[in-house]
Amino acid sequence: MIKTRITEFFGVEHPVVQGGLMWVATSQLTAAVANAGAMGFMTALSFGTADRLREEIRKCRDMTDKPFGINLTFLPTLTPPDYPGYIQVCVEEGIRFIETAGRNPEPYMPYLKEAGIKVIHKCTSVRHAIKAQKIGCDAVSIDGFECAGHPGEDDVTSLILIPLTADALTIPFVASGGFGDGRGLAGALALGADGINMGTRFVATKEAPVHGNVKQALVDHDELNTRLIMRTLRNSERVLLNEAAQNVLDIEAAGNASIDDIRHIVSGKVGLDMIREGDTEKGVLSTGQVMGLIRDVPSVAELIHRIVGDAESIIKRRLAAMAQA
Ligand code: NAD
Repeated sequence: MIKTRITEFFGVEHPVVQGGLMWVATSQLTAAVANAGAMGFMTALSFGTADRLREEIRKCRDMTDKPFGINLTFLPTLTPPDYPGYIQVCVEEGIRFIETAGRNPEPYMPYLKEAGIKVIHKCTSVRHAIKAQKIGCDAVSIDGFECAGHPGEDDVTSLILIPLTADALTIPFVASGGFGDGRGLAGALALGADGINMGTRFVATKEAPVHGNVKQALVDHDELNTRLIMRTLRNSERVLLNEAAQNVLDIEAAGNASIDDIRHIVSGKVGLDMIREGDTEKGVLSTGQVMGLIRDVPSVAELIHRIVGDAESIIKRRLAAMAQA
């Protein structure tokens, strides 16, 4: 057992968080994470409407009596999401934790606070982590450049971000970006984090509602097989290097690309088809450099127990023996 400020904060057994994953973090995955003693977040934007989010929350409650939360991502979208509707459903359904990501959640903080909801804000820079603490967020998820999806535009890796965040914050925080095994968890704790957040690693699990071809792609590819698309739009996204990603890069390289030039490729709807049907070249798939460390498709419980067990063994045996020598 590894107890930290983050296990205490969420009231869970293990210092492991399954962060929001568009289309993938549904009740099936998040309930499995909760039942394995870790903290999971279902991604509100995946459900399209507030009513469908409510149904999914109820479905998740039917599958677990452990804590879980909802992810609200504030980034540019092709169709504007109903954020107030999603938040109202969270309040009405008694959700206790929300993971915000992307832009500053400040406009929603008074309502969330009033409802007694705790907020963990995921961000990609120390200055945004400090800002999150200042506006009343209760915890932070600091996302290094290795991460899948949107790494921001500063390009600072976890090895630097984690200790700097530890120096800057008084609230608990988890390290995100590049984590997939027990060595990563032990390393994050050593660098000052209270736990880890994983995304890509959870996609390659039995319970993730994703076509087997996509899971196998994560196993087959390595740390070199990601690319950053949409850098020219200052909305960078780390994705699997496939035909769709290469097409976006070619359009961007031609110069002066706008979102309208690439929307037919990057649209989340195309991505949804891909993860349902298993054509891994069809759309863009957010994946992190951690692919290099993904070698199997275990159940969520097997994965979490392996990670925590390995981290414990590193701390109690390998590191303790070195310190005594
Ligand atoms: P979508 O279909 O609305 O948009 C597709 C992509 O285009 C997204 O990356 C989006 O950020 C980007 N985009 C849209 N309008 C843009 C604009 N005007 N300028 C620059 N970029 C623009 O997105 P979706 O797949 O339905 O996802 C909904 C939200 O969740 C998006 O904000 C998306 O970025 C986010 N998301 C996050 C992750 C992650 O890893 N954190 C992964 C997938 C999606």
